[in-house]
Amino acid sequence: MKYTGPVCRLCRREQTKLFLKGERCYTEKCPMEFSKTKKSRGIPGTSGKFRRRLTDYGVQLREKQKMKRYYLITEKQFSNYVKKAATIKEGTKSENLFKLLESRFDMIVFRLGFARSKMHARQMVTHGSFMINKKKVDIPSYILKTGDIIEFRKEVLERQKNLEEMIQDIDPSKVPEWLTLNKDAKTGHLEEPPRPEEIKEKYFPTLKENLIIEYYSR
Ligand code: SF4
Repeated sequence: MKYTGPVCRLCRREQTKLFLKGERCYTEKCPMEFSKTKKSRGIPGTSGKFRRRLTDYGVQLREKQKMKRYYLITEKQFSNYVKKAATIKEGTKSENLFKLLESRFDMIVFRLGFARSKMHARQMVTHGSFMINKKKVDIPSYILKTGDIIEFRKEVLERQKNLEEMIQDIDPSKVPEWLTLNKDAKTGHLEEPPRPEEIKEKYFPTLKENLIIEYYSR
């Protein structure tokens, strides 16, 4: 089921930053950053005193929830990605899971800096703001292939004047290696498949992705 509550609560639940609010996540306004009371940083609905030690199953579950929530997808979608990752011959299941999730249309829009947050990226895609290889696509879960090119639709750029400024403000050093950004043409190019080692290092340094695979192998 789709979660519609406050997203910072999800970070508190997982006790990790899931970066669901764009720029705010990198400032001291992030509730996971400020060194305030335990109440503001603790797991919602629990008190440290009564927190139980997690079972092996519980640890696997939490790792799975972290990744699923980071990508803002449902349980059904996530388990389908895990199944699909297992059918790919090259690479390990966890590497293929990273690749699939990072090849989603909404994630590529976000990684290119064409949206302020993952949620904003999804909204822009569903509102038909982009074309892939010159064809309008409005499905956030669409998986891009190497060589695909994303571009803003002209009508959208004309209608939303603030986009020009947003695009010019993109810091190219934040765009991952597997993507090429062309600010002038307002395009993004998937140059090569997303690199699992880099995804892990940059976005999930503490995640134990092997536990996620174990969770679905039970
Ligand atoms: Fe999570 Fe961002 Fe909220 Fe911080 S500001 S708790 S990283 S969603």
